[in-house]
Amino acid sequence: MNATLWRPELLTGEPSEAGLLRNFVDGAFVSSESTFAKLSPVTGQKIFDVCEADAATVDAAVTAARAALKGPWGRMSEQERSVILRRVADELERRFDDLVAAEVGDTGKSISQARTLDIPRGAANFRAFADFATTASTESYTTTLADGRRALNYAVRKPVGVVAIIVPWNLPLLLLTWKVAPALACGNTVVVKPSEETPSSATVLAEVMADAGVPAGVFNLVHGFGPSSAGEFLTKHPGVDAITFTGESATGSAIAKAAADGVKATSFELGGKNAGLIFADADLDAAVEGSVRSVFTNGGQVCLCTERLYVERPVYEEFCSRLAARASELTFGWPSDEATVNMPLISQQHREKVLGYYELARSEGAKFHAGGGVPTFGDARDNGCYVQPTVVTGLPADARTNTEEIFGPICHIAPFDTEEEAFVLANNSKYGLAATVWTRDVGRAHRAGAALEVGIVWVNTWFLRDLRTPFGGVKLSGIGREGGNHSLHFYSELTNVCVEL
Ligand code: NAD
Repeated sequence: MNATLWRPELLTGEPSEAGLLRNFVDGAFVSSESTFAKLSPVTGQKIFDVCEADAATVDAAVTAARAALKGPWGRMSEQERSVILRRVADELERRFDDLVAAEVGDTGKSISQARTLDIPRGAANFRAFADFATTASTESYTTTLADGRRALNYAVRKPVGVVAIIVPWNLPLLLLTWKVAPALACGNTVVVKPSEETPSSATVLAEVMADAGVPAGVFNLVHGFGPSSAGEFLTKHPGVDAITFTGESATGSAIAKAAADGVKATSFELGGKNAGLIFADADLDAAVEGSVRSVFTNGGQVCLCTERLYVERPVYEEFCSRLAARASELTFGWPSDEATVNMPLISQQHREKVLGYYELARSEGAKFHAGGGVPTFGDARDNGCYVQPTVVTGLPADARTNTEEIFGPICHIAPFDTEEEAFVLANNSKYGLAATVWTRDVGRAHRAGAALEVGIVWVNTWFLRDLRTPFGGVKLSGIGREGGNHSLHFYSELTNVCVEL
């Protein structure tokens, strides 16, 4: 087994010897010649050497996954598989501290967020999809032909086969298990590639799989990058039957091209440039606090985060000053401090991108109400990837600041005068993932649900998730829906059986 990941230094940022993270193929951890460094976003120090899977390692993982379809896993009933998946959830809870350390170490997110959101949701995904898979029905029809003959048609659910799962770094365990759990519940085997920025919690998950009794070859893990690395080797591998991907829209486009050659099924959860609409009739306290969450949670690094806020003119000035005041008071602390709210961006590269957008907003003529720079600490965090939570106004709807996904703690606020105008502004985007509407008008809430070109509309709330509901985006924000039965559709093939009676 891999060494335990729990090291207090991961939470405090104190120097320590970097650990080694390996690939997991056919039930065993395997090393590789090539490794890459995983740096702490809090202090910049190296916390792990990570074994990069080469083409041969990815091939071995896909081969093991294919063989496992014919092994004990393939012969189990849905009920037997779901018993194992519930054991995975139990084991994730037993390894809670390791997983918190892994997630906080890799991302610099606050320990309180990892404890209340990331890790519990990881375990919840396995229980939820164990339930869905064992209670799902399929359709059946009796058919009567003109000559009086009759037939019974019914659909049989079968696994798709080997599923490649490629995920980003922002909510690593949560987003990974959101796909691994339904894929396994439907009887598939998987090869997962976590982001190169967040290799740790996926490595703990590999240990959890083995300890929970998931047969060898069912869950395989390959570390590495995208192009010319493990990601591309996996998506182009002829032994992969389906690809499920969460990440940037441009990467989705590259993966779609790779998938086209093998006519592989794809499910894409991609980027966003989400709008929040605040109407004058809203509970303004709730709208301000809700917008603080929707803009700044996880350092603004959630695909569902709001980067464009539109506020009805009578409350526009008050909303801007209250949001800016709240942005300025969000606390910067060490991740191990329960009171910490802000977190660093994931890497220096991403920080340069976000700071580039702060500069772009400036050159486009934005007025800064909060932030706009980097915080200073006088300690090791000055080598980290922090930026200030930022609130800007004054830019036209077609400014790049308002049209491109920044994926950092920044929002632009603009006024509107009518409901119709608000919906037009919200829809003025090549993305269509989520929208948040703050209003006390019930009719307007439902009109927003119908009018907004997105996969998810939240009314008077944000990021409130029910795992049974359809999740996904329109336009550049994705293809397909996952969640509840929608996941079962993607991770299963249906065979129709027609029996003449
Ligand atoms: P990314 O697209 O750069 O990387 C995501 C994953 O794809 C990583 O594991 C990466 O190594 C891999 N990858 C990159 N190029 C590849 C290639 N050519 N072939 C195969 N794999 C490749 O995204 P990111 O920067 O890690 O994550 C941030 C993005 O993810 C944002 O755009 C965000 O909106 C999006 N996101 C979307 C959702 C959603 O549910 N819609 C959820 C979270 C994040």
